[in-house]
Parts: sequence; structure tokens; C-alpha cells
Amino acid sequence: MINERYREDRERRRLGSLTVYAGPTHSGKTKKLEAEAERAMRQGRRMQRLTAVADANELLNQLDPLTELVTVDDAQHYDDRLLDVLNDLATLHRVDVVAAGWELDYAGRAAGPMPELLCAADFASKLDDGVCAQPGCRNPASRTQRFHAINGTPERFLPVCRRHHTAEARALTFQEIWFDEPSGSLDLISGCMFSGKTQELIRRLDQARYAGSTIQAFKPALDDRYAIEAVASHREIRFPAIAVPDAGALRDQLRDETRVVGIDEAQFFGPDIVSLAEELASRGRHVIIAGLDLDFLARPFGPMPLLAAHADRLTKLQASCQYADCGSRQATRTQRLVDGVPAPVDAPLVVIGGAATYQARCRHHHRIGLAPRSEPEAVTVAEESAEL
Ligand SMILES: [Zn+2]
Ligand SMILES: [Zn+2]
Repeated sequence: MINERYREDRERRRLGSLTVYAGPTHSGKTKKLEAEAERAMRQGRRMQRLTAVADANELLNQLDPLTELVTVDDAQHYDDRLLDVLNDLATLHRVDVVAAGWELDYAGRAAGPMPELLCAADFASKLDDGVCAQPGCRNPASRTQRFHAINGTPERFLPVCRRHHTAEARALTFQEIWFDEPSGSLDLISGCMFSGKTQELIRRLDQARYAGSTIQAFKPALDDRYAIEAVASHREIRFPAIAVPDAGALRDQLRDETRVVGIDEAQFFGPDIVSLAEELASRGRHVIIAGLDLDFLARPFGPMPLLAAHADRLTKLQASCQYADCGSRQATRTQRLVDGVPAPVDAPLVVIGGAATYQARCRHHHRIGLAPRSEPEAVTVAEESAEL
């Protein structure tokens, strides 16, 4: 049934996707949204702007069944249910959804549903081409700075780089001391399995190595699929790495002279990897992190939403869908298969080795198996064998 619907929708060129634009104030998020809306109108597609409701579920009630593209601006104001609502719009209603919003508030805190949306999106972009508002600074702006109202000038919000951001509101004049420190950054490479995250991480580490930078690479110790002390992609490209059990051990292993820090499989670290990455980047290190943004049930994975929110630069990679005859190059989900059928919802989050295999799938072909005892088994097997 699902397949027939998929075929029909594909013939009508209606598939459903989720695009998310994030970035600081004045980074052009709303312009991006308007450009997508304009393109839809030129193509004669029915579009709807869903706005001005605080309740995410209300968005579904507003939906016109003929709508093909929906835009949602200021997504940071919605509650956490926005993630499920937008996923439903894209996957079940087959609507192209474009959402935009702040992933960090002006104090630099991740809040609202934007961090998780950056993980769940098929296409996610942090608009980072704006330059810091600090005169003379050439760093890309990734934070929103709040400035005091002075002498009749109202309170202002301007985009600034990581180095020129303070959590507290401040005056427009800057202290020159900031220029004495080296400028650090946090880059995140995210995506599903087989999207080339590790290859991209190694490519960037190699670039730094050619430039003569002092580099250290790390990976969580539990992942020993390919090598104990190397970051290794599925295509056997390697970079020497230290396997560490947690963020604390990573900190202990860091040498003072290290300028570039690479971290692979970041989804397996605890939440303290976020504060460590922030600290390293704010103290002048170039931190490059790669990780799976969604787990095998397509839920945001561990610290990845917060890393996506705090990153100065986000590179979201896609794979090709491995579902037979799909052909979509927008696979963003990781399908776990056990004995050829989708792993059930109650399967453990992390399986090292064993019988499980993985595939990259688009959102329309990602499947969650039924829990063995809660449903008659015959239904599960028949349905899935028809699909596989
Ligand atoms: Zn700056
Ligand atoms: Zn597919």
C-alpha cells in the first residue's frame, strides 16, 4: 500500500521533504524562505505559509490538503512537537516543508525545536556567509549579539562571530584584547551512514596537515569496527586517531600545541562533548566533528542536535537511498536490518558487530519494525518482504 502511494506521488512529482535554514539575526533566513515560496509559485505549485500559531499541532489543522509546499518562519518559537509535526507533513502528507529560525538565542543558548530540526532535515543549512558586525573582523557570523540601548538608540541585535559574542548584552564598543587571541571555530559534518562523513572529516584534517597544523583526532572507544587507533571510513581511508571512552578522557589526551581537533562518531559521546567542543573552539582551536545526526529510529542522536546548534559551520551530507528502485540521492536516514527486516522499535540503540546490517534510506523508505510481541508476526513479515 505504502509503495503504491509512493509510486503515484513520484509520478505526480510530489514526494515530501524537510529543508531547514538556521543562522543568526540578519543572516537571510527569511529571504531563503521567500525564495523557495516564489519558486513554488512560479512552478504553479500550491504553497502555504503557516504562521502565527504557538501550538505546533495547530499547523496540521491549518493545512490545505492540496498544498505542496509549506513554509514556517521563526520556528524557534514553537514547542518541541514541531519536529513530529514537520516530519509528518513531509513523510505522511508528502509536503515539501521549508522551516527557518534561530538555533541559538542571543545569549548563545540552544532552545526550542531548531537543534533537533537540523538533525531531522533532509537538507539543512546554517547561513554563515554574513560577516561579523565587529569593525575589522573578517570571521563569519554565527551568533546573535544583543546591544544596550544608549542615548535614545534602541536595543539592537547584530550578527557576530564566536569570538565577539557575549551572553550578556553589551555596548557597541569592543575591547581590543579580543584581537590578541587566535580565532577558533566549530565545524560539524553530519548525515546518515554511507553519506561520507568520515571521508569529509579526513579530507579536512588532511588539508590542515598539508598546511602544517598540529592535529589530534579522536573517536569514541566503543566503535572498534575497523581500527582501534584510526578514524576509518567504509572505503578504508584512514587517519590516525586516539580512541577515548568519554569527553573527559579526550580533554586529558589533548596536547597544548594542538591547533586542530578532529572527532569522529560524535553521536556516541555524552552531552559533555558539547561544552568541551565549545570551550576548545572559543579558546582558538579549530574543532571539526563528524557524526550520525539520527539513530536507526530516525530520532536525533545523543549530543548531535546541540552540536548542530553550536557549530559555526554545518555540513549536512546525504547518501543515495539503498531501497530497491528508489534512486533518491536524498537519503538522510539509517536503516537497521536484522535478518533482512527492519529492526524493531525496542531494539538497543547501539549494536556493535553481530547480525545487524545498515542501509542509507530516504525518509520515504525508512522503516521501523514492529515490536515482536505487540503485533502478530505474520503481518510484519509479509509487509516487509513485499517492500524488500
Ligand atoms: Zn568577530
Ligand atoms: Zn528511497
